[in-house]
Amino acid sequence: MKVRVDPELCYGSGDCVYRAPHVFTVMDGFGAVLPGREETDDDPRVREAAEGCPSQAITLTD
Ligand code: SF4
Repeated sequence: MKVRVDPELCYGSGDCVYRAPHVFTVMDGFGAVLPGREETDDDPRVREAAEGCPSQAITLTD
């Protein structure tokens, strides 16, 4: 699946990094997908990060 963070919605809480540090990082105060991790296998930690994002900034597409 494809993972994307919408910079217009993200406010840099860092929750996604806490839940899935192998996919997310915080850059310049905002959440971002680590380079090369935009495509990932179905991963419950990434789904948790998307569901737990307080601003619903994380999009997962198949
Ligand atoms: S959990 Fe959501 S709001 Fe927080 S840093 Fe990650 S993408 Fe941004």
